[in-house]
Amino acid sequence: MSMTDSDTKTLLRSIPAMDELLNAPWAAEFSGSLGRENVKKIIEEALGEIRREINGGTTASMPMDELVASRAATLLRLKLSSTLKPVVNATGVIIHTNLGRAPLAPEALAAVNEISGTYSTLEYDPEKGGRGGRNVHVEWLLRRLTGAEAALVVNNNAAAVLLALSATAAGREVIVSSGELVEIGDSFRIPEILAFSGAKMIAVGCTNSTRIKDYGDAITENTAVLLKVHPSNYRIEGFVKTTAREELAELAAERGLVFMEDLGSGLLGSLGVGGPLGAALASRECSVRECLEAGSGVVTFSGDKLLGGPQIGVIAGSKKLIDRMKSHQLLRALRVDKMTLAAFEATLRLHLSGKQGRIPVIGMIETDKPVLLERARRLCRLLKQSATCNTDFSRQVPCAVKPGAGDFTIAVVETEDAIGGGSFPTDLLPGFGVAISSPSFSAEILAAGLRAATIPVIPAIREGRVILHLRTLLPGDEKLIAASFTSAIRGEAV
Ligand SMILES: *Cc1c(COP(=O)(O)O)cnc(C)c1O
Repeated sequence: MSMTDSDTKTLLRSIPAMDELLNAPWAAEFSGSLGRENVKKIIEEALGEIRREINGGTTASMPMDELVASRAATLLRLKLSSTLKPVVNATGVIIHTNLGRAPLAPEALAAVNEISGTYSTLEYDPEKGGRGGRNVHVEWLLRRLTGAEAALVVNNNAAAVLLALSATAAGREVIVSSGELVEIGDSFRIPEILAFSGAKMIAVGCTNSTRIKDYGDAITENTAVLLKVHPSNYRIEGFVKTTAREELAELAAERGLVFMEDLGSGLLGSLGVGGPLGAALASRECSVRECLEAGSGVVTFSGDKLLGGPQIGVIAGSKKLIDRMKSHQLLRALRVDKMTLAAFEATLRLHLSGKQGRIPVIGMIETDKPVLLERARRLCRLLKQSATCNTDFSRQVPCAVKPGAGDFTIAVVETEDAIGGGSFPTDLLPGFGVAISSPSFSAEILAAGLRAATIPVIPAIREGRVILHLRTLLPGDEKLIAASFTSAIRGEAV
């Protein structure tokens, strides 16, 4: 239906005045938590939207004051809820970068809780009655766990690499294999970090083959570092020749250079994964201690990958080199805060006392198939109940998922889970999940319904089915999944 100019004008004029809107009970309710000025800004946003629609020829489907109230209240409610909130990770990817990587162990949470709301010894030594260092809280633990002479923590592993290179190679050359010029996550690129550190990158060898001679031939009087980078998130198959760290360590020692290694995931001990997979993982992933023993002068790694702690970066290695980093100006900009330190210390103590199984990432990696099967059967029963309870769609609510009155196929299926976070990109962990499908709606629509819950459930989608992987679920998640499934098929918000 087309509107005449005068219709448009009449509609625009029927928009209530701001004062009137601000004083309406629905708006006043939000002022308490958002503040009147912010409520006004958000109402203006809603009015702008409505004016644009009217000018574009849209006729109002309800009385103007109701339309304004409903649009503004929707925007206001969005602003009331956090955008940073918990989700249920049912993707089967354990270290999921977009979902916050490693969930913390209960001990780490308790430590954060204890330290954050009070003053602390962050940089204070009660014995001396004066200034202390924030690094001391974790250095001894890191030395014990890795065998390193010294250790230093910063914001994340990208910062660790940046600081380590800045302190050892600024203005000089760093030799790295062409096969290791990797991009990790969506922004960590070795060539760019090298450039930021002020070092000059000398790439040697080919993508799939770099020999010790390639490094040796590239050394000049201006070379400072031989750098080895864990290719984390990809693997080259076929003819591959990389140089052993022992050879690199020897070459570096002979020529008076630093041998530095960016390990990425920071495996502290062996992972308790049995069978051929465990053997494959162990043969491919070197622990921090093994790398240092093989001659790496400095290694860098993340705290929130295989270590299972908070976001932090660790530099471990020779005391002489770490001392240079400790006194580098850049450290001031990259230092970690007290909450992170508290969580990290508690996580390291779990490693030290042999209780790594309490760390969610490690517990998830080590969960056996029979345990996952049992949990999958339980979740399957729960979801079948939810589906049948809701076959009576007497409530006429707008429905995201068109209800097909019980025509869901819900079944336990085998899954391939992943460690993620760039750790072991091609080694998948066999697990179990629950698959949901229905002839009356697509997997994408059901997944969107699950994500719309107050605590969004993030499933995987495979071959037209929604798959809920059991391995990455935390205690209590099954109930949240059942609730979000119920509301998805009813088309309500939880
Ligand atoms: C993950 C990773 C990084 C980046 O670490 P952040 O902790 O995300 O900063 C750097 N290098 C390697 C090899 C990695 O695997």
